[in-house]
Amino acid sequence: MKITFLGTSSGKASTKRFHSSILFSSENNNLLVDAGDGISRALVCNGIKFNSIDGILFTHLHPDHFSGLAALIVQMKMMNRIEPLQIFIHESLIKVVKEFLVRSYLLPEKMGFEIHYERFKDDKPFNITEKFSFLARKNSHLSDLEKYRTKYPSLSLYSGSFLFESVDKKIIYTSDIGSEEDLLLFSEIIPDLFISEVTHISLLTLLEKIKILKPKTIYLTHYSDEEIPKLSEIMANLPNTLKEKVILAVDSLSFDF
Ligand SMILES: [Zn+2]
Repeated sequence: MKITFLGTSSGKASTKRFHSSILFSSENNNLLVDAGDGISRALVCNGIKFNSIDGILFTHLHPDHFSGLAALIVQMKMMNRIEPLQIFIHESLIKVVKEFLVRSYLLPEKMGFEIHYERFKDDKPFNITEKFSFLARKNSHLSDLEKYRTKYPSLSLYSGSFLFESVDKKIIYTSDIGSEEDLLLFSEIIPDLFISEVTHISLLTLLEKIKILKPKTIYLTHYSDEEIPKLSEIMANLPNTLKEKVILAVDSLSFDF
């Protein structure tokens, strides 16, 4: 398995960095996790062909994670895609995604390829391939919007954190979270890799929780340009035992795992 950070920025736009998105590549599958604003350019910059993407998994529908979908599908169409595209989406969000594509004039009749909606439920393992699966658990990232449900009854408020399993490797990806408790959503698992956002949670809090989680390696993502000096300072002062374990991911960082 190869992991590529296509973007590591938070919701803040940057001249040099793209919004958070990760590509999981295994021998016969390329899974894109999130496709926010600018994802098509991020793929071009990383030399990844649009139609090499087999599926897109959405953690939640904030624009820095979702709003590049329609533009990316247009690129796929322009490159004469034939193979179906899988969209892995929580069951509560499927209607929103379908409607978004229709409203972007991406009608199934005009597409030239099919979109297969792979709806997942919370806490139910989902096999992407024989050797690669994921499990989603709802986090509290969107909890503060619950109070608007009465005014906007069609609001779908799902945001997930994920456990990916590839053969004997376990990867936890927090995606965007709402509280430090969300870091412990998979606390029964000791992951090989723990990928955490550091915008809605401070690095110091994360480092405290890491003592419980005991991952082998930790990658930090989803941070703004303005946060880099502070993050770098904390990283520089880490004890040696943690220095090798905690890595600040940067755009285009790619490694075999
Ligand atoms: Zn975000």
